[in-house]
Amino acid sequence: MPESIINVSYIVAAILFILGIKMLGSASTAVKGNRISSLGMLLAVIVTLSKSGLDYTWIVAGLVLGGMIGLVAAKRVQMTGMPELVALFNGFGGLASLLVGWSEYEKVRTEGWGVYMEKVGDAMPGQWFLALVIVLAVIIGGITFTGSIVAYLKLSGKIGGTATIFPLQKLINLLVMLGAVVAGCYFITIVDNQTAQFWLWCVIFLSLLIGVLGVIPIGGGDMPVVIALLNSFSGLGAAAAGFVITNTVLVVAGCLVGASGLILSMIMCKAMNRSLGNVLFGGFGALTSSGGKQVEGEMKALSVKDAYYVLEAAQSVVFVPGYGMAVAQAQHVVKELSEILERNGAEVRHAVHPVAGRMPGHMNVLLAEADVPYEQLCEMEEVNAIIPTVDVAIVIGANDVVNPAAIEDEESPIYGMPIINVHQARSVFVLKRGQGAGYSGIINTLFFRENCRMIYGDAKATVGSMVAQFEE
Ligand code: NDP
Repeated sequence: MPESIINVSYIVAAILFILGIKMLGSASTAVKGNRISSLGMLLAVIVTLSKSGLDYTWIVAGLVLGGMIGLVAAKRVQMTGMPELVALFNGFGGLASLLVGWSEYEKVRTEGWGVYMEKVGDAMPGQWFLALVIVLAVIIGGITFTGSIVAYLKLSGKIGGTATIFPLQKLINLLVMLGAVVAGCYFITIVDNQTAQFWLWCVIFLSLLIGVLGVIPIGGGDMPVVIALLNSFSGLGAAAAGFVITNTVLVVAGCLVGASGLILSMIMCKAMNRSLGNVLFGGFGALTSSGGKQVEGEMKALSVKDAYYVLEAAQSVVFVPGYGMAVAQAQHVVKELSEILERNGAEVRHAVHPVAGRMPGHMNVLLAEADVPYEQLCEMEEVNAIIPTVDVAIVIGANDVVNPAAIEDEESPIYGMPIINVHQARSVFVLKRGQGAGYSGIINTLFFRENCRMIYGDAKATVGSMVAQFEE
């Protein structure tokens, strides 16, 4: 295919990506936006594969093997395992960038720099630039890979979800980072020398180490920020890999993922009440050993029947979904109950906390799947403004995001995180299976409040029984 057609197709693909992402901003256009972006990606892949001089054997082998692994993983995963699968796929994106950077260096090393620079012509300002983008692809890719593996292990519960702290941790992390930067700079300056290979291996090793060391001290409530940040890194790694192989559309797609991931990280930081600087340079995941103040009082249980009497008379109801709703897959029956309450004359809202669940937008996805009307969805600030006038707040498997300790107890590890203030509603029903803690592992002071009642059981079964009560 002529170079000019390839370039025009890449521009069209980039426009489709941007249009698609813009449409993802609203629930009503999101599905169409997803299709438009996918079309852009298909165009980019077809055009790239039609370039001359490609060895299709390796491409087809990679496609079949990768496709099979992806298909089996996606088919076998439970809905509740989705967040960790996404984290893992993120990591594979990082690994791909690392391998592209590394293999391109090996190619140039064996071909000779002169031959290579002649071949790429004006596309590369100089060999220093190739060396620089190789180092960037390797560092960002390596950190993303091992960081995402640790995030996957934490989210799936294969290792403890809390922060792992050891003596001199910050100093060691700083030294490892400095080591990677120094090795990378040295590699760039002596790149056409045979010893450069050793320095690239050092960069690879150190960046893989940074990923592990950087994510293990982060635990509990801080995880959403790290997930969003790793997402951004995977995009930046892909952009660096795009420079390495002089592929414009990969640079554009990588920058889009990098930038949107960064915006998401900022949103998550705001939701956790942390600055990005604080996240990046310390204080991150510095969970205190204290689990917060001792809580006095007891949790009071309520039967579904008694809950029904209160709901029957309620004029305004707010549902607050959390990770437990995803576990129970209760979103459809929650929609059913909210329709019944509306018909009964109540004003119904669904309040979504930005870090509820286990991945950004987790609750929005579930509620959209159940066709909950977009107008009923409320953001945290919006619902907090009216919560004292709400008759009943129904907490469906949420825990950390409604824990008043976050705003009242300075000793609490989650102190400072904004929450949905359900404790200010007239009555609160908490639907959960038992007395288990949330992801951060700390006690929820809400459960001991006078206006709070616990309705024990699987959320889907409990909401189903409430629906049955209305239908009797
Ligand atoms: P939590 O993890 O705090 O709590 C979930 C609750 O759901 C548990 O207390 C559990 O209690 C209950 N539950 C589990 N299964 C069921 C079921 N079948 N039926 C009813 N209840 C059930 O969830 P939140 O959404 O409130 O908070 C999210 C947490 O995850 C935050 O700490 C956040 O920082 C963290 N996180 C978020 C990420 C994101 O991107 N959104 C990523 C990584 C971490 P019980 O066992 O008693 O039933």
